[in-house]
Amino acid sequence: MSAASASLSAERRSADLDAVAGGSVDVVVVGGGVTGTGVALDAAARGLSVVLLERADLASGTSRWSSKLVHGGLRYLAHGELGLARESARERAVLMGVTAPHLVRPLPFLVPDVAGRDVTALAAAGGRLGDAVRLSVPGGRGSLRSTRRVSAAETSRLVPGVRPGRGGVVFWDGQLSDDARLVVALARTAAAHGARVLTGATVPAVDGAEVHVEMDDGEALSLRAGVVVNAAGVWAQRLAPAVRLVPSRGSHLVVRAERLGSPTAALTVPLPGSRSRYVFALPQPGGLIYLGLTDEPVSGPVPDDDPVPSDAEVQQLLETVNQVLEVPLDRSDLVGAYAGLRPLVLPESAGTGPGDATADLSRKHLLSWDGPVLTVVGGKLTTYRAMAEEAVDAVVARLGRGQARTTTTRLPLVGAAPRTVLERIEAPARLVARYGTEAPVVAGLGEETVADGRAETVGELRFAVRHEGARSVADLLDRRTRIGLVPADRARAVEVAERVLAEET
Ligand SMILES: Cc1cc2nc3c(=O)[nH]c(=O)nc-3n(C[C@H](O)[C@H](O)[C@H](O)COP(=O)(O)OP(=O)(O)OC[C@H]3O[C@@H](n4cnc5c(N)ncnc54)[C@H](O)[C@@H]3O)c2cc1C
Repeated sequence: MSAASASLSAERRSADLDAVAGGSVDVVVVGGGVTGTGVALDAAARGLSVVLLERADLASGTSRWSSKLVHGGLRYLAHGELGLARESARERAVLMGVTAPHLVRPLPFLVPDVAGRDVTALAAAGGRLGDAVRLSVPGGRGSLRSTRRVSAAETSRLVPGVRPGRGGVVFWDGQLSDDARLVVALARTAAAHGARVLTGATVPAVDGAEVHVEMDDGEALSLRAGVVVNAAGVWAQRLAPAVRLVPSRGSHLVVRAERLGSPTAALTVPLPGSRSRYVFALPQPGGLIYLGLTDEPVSGPVPDDDPVPSDAEVQQLLETVNQVLEVPLDRSDLVGAYAGLRPLVLPESAGTGPGDATADLSRKHLLSWDGPVLTVVGGKLTTYRAMAEEAVDAVVARLGRGQARTTTTRLPLVGAAPRTVLERIEAPARLVARYGTEAPVVAGLGEETVADGRAETVGELRFAVRHEGARSVADLLDRRTRIGLVPADRARAVEVAERVLAEET
């Protein structure tokens, strides 16, 4: 795959727009989150012609509001769902070993004894079961370390902010350097396989196989599709009214890592009264911690605006983590907060759709046909590839065209390389963890930082405009980089982002 073919440049956009208008393609994908970009890549790699239409920007929906974990499904194990845990562990191994080793790192999770010995006993048992599942999937062996008990000294070393004097249990899982970067890498890899990726392209309606598109510059266009894949996440119901979703809000708080003593492990504390739901304090590159997460049912129509954490959620997160901290956190420690809506599928959807419907409800994803429209909704970031494979299998069967079998288990995303290669790349480690093999190119575009106290560089913004389809300040600060997660930092970065946009466009 050449860097040029994976480039979402302005030139590529205008050529794609010309080619798409009034044309006809095998597959139109609606939605540029992890589900839609995953489907676009799988379909394009199987030789189908693909257009992806995203109303705002890549990763502008739920996919950028996650906990950024590539997890092996410990929660599924707690519910006895071994098959689902195996699928998660298998997909985690694919991401860490083949498709995106640059974007996923192993992360230790500390469950401290000060949370209760019954809690750590359960965590140890769950962790060991998780290890056994990991060892049973291809590529699992050697990808992560095994669960073990740790001493009081090691507990304090891993998370210095925890009340001292007691030990704990450590288990390992995968952490994405950034969820939005996974989506951008998927979209660019799909583009390298011929998919036409258009942002600022709303699909208000699908009329049979005719797709109407409203561009954000006011233009309108139509095209014909063999199949439309509706991957619009929590908004999928607008294109497929028969699909029933019950969105649930998940919130995170952003605090400075030094407040917990700059931990190297994720602190893991069970929600009071739960045996399978935890609050995590997740260390991030750049000296921040994301503290999440909640699970709040949301009723009524799904708004277009970004959701925000409620007061009660902020309280719940602080109270839970404070149970184990030496110096409790309070609201004055928050430098940011974010929330996202999980697209959970209502069980009746499986039976009420007008077309064939199959759903793995416990996994909470749904594939449902309505005429030429296939709705793909639910699931999680970790298993996006398996979901995309299943969806494109159905598309290939319907169209009678395209390779019957997916190739995505062995298809590295743009920037990916084996760990041994990544370790030798001559560029700052921070850039390698976000851009992989492209890090030297990014570094060469400018090393001046975007704002005091932030590590992001002008080179990253330039690269985003030239190759990653960024077209606005928000694309640059809220998705290609995540400076926007700390609003005060964002305010200081806006001027530089505006300057780079003006220079590059
Ligand atoms: C708080 C939280 C934490 C999570 N943590 C994790 C985690 O750690 N690990 C994990 O594996 N999973 C996690 N998940 C689950 C995961 O984030 C979601 O399952 C996944 O991101 C959903 O992706 P999606 O592409 O289906 O939806 P989205 O990312 O929402 O994408 C849908 C896209 O469709 C676009 N769109 C909508 N309507 C239209 C239209 N009419 N025309 C054009 N475009 C349209 C939207 O703009 C949007 O970009 C978490 C979820 C939440 C809410």
